[in-house]
Amino acid sequence: MLWRCYLPYIEKMKPMSDLCSTCKEISGLIIRSANMQSDERITEAMQKALDHRSLVKKEREYYKDVLKEAQLLLKGLYTDAANNYNPPLTRPLAMLNIVAHYSFDYAQQVHYPSSPLQAGPIYFLTPRKCGIFGVCCEAIPQQVNFLIDESFDTGKGANPVISMVHFYLKNHGLNSVSIHFNADNCTGQNKNNTVIQYLLWRVMTGLNASISISFLPVGHTKFSPDWCFGLLKQKFRKAEVDSLDDFIQVVEQSSA
Ligand SMILES: [Zn+2]
Repeated sequence: MLWRCYLPYIEKMKPMSDLCSTCKEISGLIIRSANMQSDERITEAMQKALDHRSLVKKEREYYKDVLKEAQLLLKGLYTDAANNYNPPLTRPLAMLNIVAHYSFDYAQQVHYPSSPLQAGPIYFLTPRKCGIFGVCCEAIPQQVNFLIDESFDTGKGANPVISMVHFYLKNHGLNSVSIHFNADNCTGQNKNNTVIQYLLWRVMTGLNASISISFLPVGHTKFSPDWCFGLLKQKFRKAEVDSLDDFIQVVEQSSA
């Protein structure tokens, strides 16, 4: 409190995850070359930082544009004006001749039993893990979360990702002709041949006319699923969760 009162410009650094290694490297370079007082080195490092920043900015703008366009295409097609409810458009409705946009990602696992007033002895036990995978359709907006119990967890490869995306498209997605995906830049899960082949298969079998997928630059991949996960985790921290059913309730409440 004293610190905040007398030295308000000093802030505590918040812990962050998934930081960009390029950003870190460049900032280290700037600090080091500033100490060496060589103008050339500083200019070089600064130029690198600017280049990197403009690349990230470009990708970010593209992501925003895609979202905006998806929203525009969906306007009026989807909302039930009477009670403001958005039902998922699934078959047998006619295919919508639009590009739908989805983003998908894994969240960090949660452990239960979990309580805001955790008793000590639990420390000696191994809690049950539950994985979370979310597919977000920003235009509605709606996110569908898959809760993967420990006993069904098959690791984080390409196969579970494809299975869940396929299930989502079949049961919760908009029935659109074209699709644009955004995914995390993780080679093991999303950016690999298996996923590309799955998307190719969708087009070849006529499920979609065209599908594109884009990845945000490594380390700058904060996108819509992460915001939904944030809400979810906030609820989770305050809730008493003893079972998967409890956790399902937390997830459902987090969207309200
Ligand atoms: Zn960066």
